[in-house]
Amino acid sequence: MAERFDYEVIVIGAGPAGSLAASEAARAGKTVLLIEKDTEIGIPETCGGLISENGLNKIIDDKNIIKRKIDKGVLIIKDSLFEFSFKNSNLVEIDRQLMDKKLARFAVKNGSELVLGSYAFYKKENGVNFVYTKGKRFIAKYVINAAGSSYYPKKEGKILVTQFMFALKDEYYDGIAVYINKELYPKLFGWYIPYDDGLAKIGAPGGPDSAILAAKKILEKLKLNGKAIKVLSSYLIIGGPYYQSNTNDYVMIGDAGGQTKPITGGGIIFGSLGGKIAGNLAAQDALATYNNMYYERGPGKDLLQQVKIRNVYEMLDDSAILKLADVLHEKNISFIEDEFDYHSKLIKKVLEDPSLVLKLAKILPSVTFGYLKSLLFS
Ligand SMILES: Cc1cc2nc3c(=O)[nH]c(=O)nc-3n(C[C@H](O)[C@H](O)[C@H](O)COP(=O)(O)OP(=O)(O)OC[C@H]3O[C@@H](n4cnc5c(N)ncnc54)[C@H](O)[C@@H]3O)c2cc1C
Repeated sequence: MAERFDYEVIVIGAGPAGSLAASEAARAGKTVLLIEKDTEIGIPETCGGLISENGLNKIIDDKNIIKRKIDKGVLIIKDSLFEFSFKNSNLVEIDRQLMDKKLARFAVKNGSELVLGSYAFYKKENGVNFVYTKGKRFIAKYVINAAGSSYYPKKEGKILVTQFMFALKDEYYDGIAVYINKELYPKLFGWYIPYDDGLAKIGAPGGPDSAILAAKKILEKLKLNGKAIKVLSSYLIIGGPYYQSNTNDYVMIGDAGGQTKPITGGGIIFGSLGGKIAGNLAAQDALATYNNMYYERGPGKDLLQQVKIRNVYEMLDDSAILKLADVLHEKNISFIEDEFDYHSKLIKKVLEDPSLVLKLAKILPSVTFGYLKSLLFS
């Protein structure tokens, strides 16, 4: 009976995934409490803010969130540099703080309660969902855990990364850069993302000492000079979905549930969609069908494929990646243009081009190439 519960839905964490979950459930008329540990939504900001515009349109209809379109980039592999232009770019940099605040506002507008500065703790006792905050205890019919990367249960899929904000001295580059050096960063890469004029976000795996090596290399290759004016370390999720067998009344979504792209750790779109679906299903008393709706029939299907692509990436060394980049560059393949989010579609596209397949078969180790094909077309 509804009277037994303090709230029908409690959502822990007011990042994009949590706010959208709360928003959807409240919009359907449910009693919803959204709990956030920080005292301001969107702060601290530990994000690059790069997403596809198509993806953004699925979570919020607000062009003010877009800071710029990204229409070029460089790929640095050790000391080699490849330039790419994305003529019909679908890639944008967003104002992440603003987006988080607007999504929280939708939750409130739709009737959700929002508590800030309150650390929440979930526990199930005798089949009842309890959420504890300082000095309070709530009972909820459904609990949606959207508390971010710290809660992701698979240790090996969670990596520490550090992102600097650099103040650039003279020149400024308004494209993106990716720095691959598998000896330094076996699981991921370094990155450069333009921010406001004269500022750029530069980051890489590891703590500040490790990430500064990538920053130096990227600045050198882009012929830029600058000083770090902010540094923040946090976790990025690259281990793939955390597949819960039972989502009857509790589900982990967003970074907490591993709803990020395993190649890049980007989770704004997949996590937000995970939140929307969770909120909707809770409102319909159908949370038990979450796996089916997200992973089997929804966006999570591609994430499961992307885990396999990540496995292939891990099998490649720098020289294979270099050869791969050469082929793609020569063919003028712009992977960003079409499928920035759905990586498995992108790989399938590449593998449908007979001339590319021939070249790839020559440059990739045969085991890797065979594995890639069998995984994606099985
Ligand atoms: C350096 C870096 C760069 C990135 N760049 C990109 C990018 O360019 N594009 C992209 O798509 N993704 C990027 N990501 C990933 C992206 O930031 C996450 O996938 C996204 O924020 C996940 O959203 P979320 O709502 O699941 O979690 P979060 O945004 O982390 O929100 C979780 C919220 O829960 C709150 N919380 C935590 N614990 C509790 C608790 N116990 N009680 C109450 N509240 C709690 C937190 O304070 C936070 O507000 C990047 C990540 C990092 C670290």
